[in-house]
Amino acid sequence: MEKYDVAVLGAGIVGLTASYFSSDEGFKTVMIASEIPSDVSMNKSVGIITRQLTTKREILLATESINILFELLPNIYRVMYGRDFITIEDQKTAFQDFRFYRKTMYDVDIYYYGEVPEKFSSINISVNEAILHTKNDVMLDAKKAIENLYEVVSKKQGLDQIQKKALSLEREGNEYIIKLEDGQEVKAKNVILAMGAWNKYFLENNRIYLPVATYACIAVRFKIDGEIPVSGSDEVNYMYWMVEDDTVLAGEYYQSVPIIRPDRMDLVELENKDKSVKRSLLERFKSLKDLEFVEFIVGPCSVPLGKRPLFKEVMTNVFLIDGMAGYGFTLGPALAKEAVSMISQRMG
Ligand SMILES: Cc1cc2nc3c(=O)[nH]c(=O)nc-3n(C[C@H](O)[C@H](O)[C@H](O)COP(=O)(O)OP(=O)(O)OC[C@H]3O[C@@H](n4cnc5c(N)ncnc54)[C@H](O)[C@@H]3O)c2cc1C
Repeated sequence: MEKYDVAVLGAGIVGLTASYFSSDEGFKTVMIASEIPSDVSMNKSVGIITRQLTTKREILLATESINILFELLPNIYRVMYGRDFITIEDQKTAFQDFRFYRKTMYDVDIYYYGEVPEKFSSINISVNEAILHTKNDVMLDAKKAIENLYEVVSKKQGLDQIQKKALSLEREGNEYIIKLEDGQEVKAKNVILAMGAWNKYFLENNRIYLPVATYACIAVRFKIDGEIPVSGSDEVNYMYWMVEDDTVLAGEYYQSVPIIRPDRMDLVELENKDKSVKRSLLERFKSLKDLEFVEFIVGPCSVPLGKRPLFKEVMTNVFLIDGMAGYGFTLGPALAKEAVSMISQRMG
């Protein structure tokens, strides 16, 4: 049986970055996942990484994730659509958020009605609303970013890959045995659980119950016939959007639906789910006349019941990264790095 210092289960944004940092530390590492790289992160994420978040810890994680992606992806500019992000809020909340962000970020501006700069003049806001603008966020093509990251990760020395489903985790002395679907077994001193919405179901076999709910998150792609000057979030209409070249990917926060299992996205009812997000976009952007539906993007989101992402040691030397809901690209790389540094401290 092959023995490793670190086994990473999952090869999405979290598994790939964890595998990178682990092998970079000189640990003999294995990345085990049903698909490598993950089909989930590749095709089912919008790719917004914004620091306009609710806690200081999350802002610092997002900042670190952006730094990590710049460090790891040599061709990041080829997979990036822009760095500007806006949030439209009612004036009072916008001012409170502005004051909070200014404590941590130096690139944040607030624009009140009548003071919106020319480049954003095609956005409709009312007298009671304001816009928050940050300029060093990242809008990515998630699929291409994961492909690029995989190229970098797969060149790492000391990293093995096994494309198999992991079935169980059992403790044996100071080590863990991971059983795979083909009967193969792998031994590791440390484990990083990076299986997104599947972590919960995997851990139930070990009688560990995670405080997360599984949702299907839905985004819609439309062809743009006018101008959407910037990517952003509309907190008044509970909507976000990311501008690509001649299309926009947009979703509504309340349209996520609870589901039983992450692998049954086919059961999600999509009829009319494009209608209200389309209406909100047409209301917000003056120069749009119509938006042509292109496709739905539906993927599993692991939503924390306590509203904060889960980063914890669920068994001795077994680190879980989960509950990032629609923020896996935003928080995942930084949490993966934290997990590897905890392992480094233990291993001396
Ligand atoms: C529509 C939509 C829009 C989104 N937009 C954004 C966004 O703009 N910004 C952002 O930051 N995030 C966004 N997200 C969230 C983001 O996509 C997820 O948070 C992220 O993909 C989670 O990454 P992960 O590495 O934790 O897990 P995943 O990408 O889910 O990867 C887990 C991998 O583990 C594998 N696996 C599962 N079970 C096993 C097993 N038993 N053995 C081995 N391997 C297994 C799976 O096959 C999967 O490939 C969005 C999500 C959706 C659905």
